[in-house]
Amino acid sequence: MTTKTLILHATENDHRTSLKEAAAIIRRGGLVAFPTETVYGLGADALNAKAVQAIFEAKGRPADNPLIVHVASKQQCSELARNIPEKAFALMDEFWSGPLTLILDRTEIVPDVTTGGLDTVALRMPDNEIALGLIRASGKPLAAPSANLSGKPSPTNARHVIEDLSGRIDAVIDGGSVKVGLESTVVDMTPAVPAILRPGEISREDIEKVIGAVIIGYEDKIHPESTVVRSPGMKYTHYAPDAAVTLIEGEHEMVISRIQELLGNSPSRQVRIGLLLTDESNKMIRHADQLALGSKDRPGEIALNLFSGLRYMDSKGVDLILVDGSFSHLGIGAAVSNRIRKAAGTIIKV
Ligand code: AMP
Ligand code: MG
Repeated sequence: MTTKTLILHATENDHRTSLKEAAAIIRRGGLVAFPTETVYGLGADALNAKAVQAIFEAKGRPADNPLIVHVASKQQCSELARNIPEKAFALMDEFWSGPLTLILDRTEIVPDVTTGGLDTVALRMPDNEIALGLIRASGKPLAAPSANLSGKPSPTNARHVIEDLSGRIDAVIDGGSVKVGLESTVVDMTPAVPAILRPGEISREDIEKVIGAVIIGYEDKIHPESTVVRSPGMKYTHYAPDAAVTLIEGEHEMVISRIQELLGNSPSRQVRIGLLLTDESNKMIRHADQLALGSKDRPGEIALNLFSGLRYMDSKGVDLILVDGSFSHLGIGAAVSNRIRKAAGTIIKV
């Protein structure tokens, strides 16, 4: 399939003309990539099975990996979900619009292809005026997974989307860089005690303050055999660049010395190594291909730069990426660690 991919421009304050054009594409069953606060999404009318099927084809996404449906208001949920528990409304009140996805029982109008055949639906209201404007202008809830080829790191700007999907989708709305850089927190609200299926900027602590105890329903270690897959998407290798990834976790100085040791031991020039570092480590290490992602004490900075850092190292053609895991695992740091662990073939603890 080759389509000419239209590039539309918008800002959160000025988006009328672009959204009019994009909404028309959505209404006729087309695919439009758009910015959200987390990552760029690849949107289609969530209630049009054929349009949603085209998302799976454009991304090369496995059919059993369900999509998040984006809404522009809490009211819009009632046509898509039923038996919505009080705790779900409490989370909507606190965190919407924002990077929190709720799994709820679905209604009949949501097609099977959107939910990967499940009887639940994932709903989220994004905190981005372009995304909200597109949902309103099209008059449709938008099914939108991340706008990358399946298996690649999620896109955090329009250039990443074009790299992966040019010629495969109808349009991309370039609305600049995202604010968070990691995908939303996913919480399954259907059991009596809700379960976090994917960590994100909204942390377990944030959620427990509002609704009390939750359980962790995702596996952070790499033991795929022993993991019960609750969120189908989490079983696939995600966020992975072409190069092999090794994560080095531990206290800052120990991580730096292990990275230096690994650089010293590598059969030079046969294996090209790229380094993704904290700002602090970046000042201590000199190497050809290295990139600072942010301060080890501000994991939000690392979240924002991680996926583009992985893509940058692929563009440099390195064979192995060493990732400095000495950043704080508090708050969004837990989600950053989860994403790097999913991309990593090897995890070294020092
Ligand atoms: P992405 O849109 O690429 O961020 O992926 C969406 C994530 O939400 C994947 O990890 C899905 O498995 C998860 N998800 C979507 N719908 C459901 C659902 N009904 N039940 C459980 N997980 C879901
Ligand atoms: Mg994705």
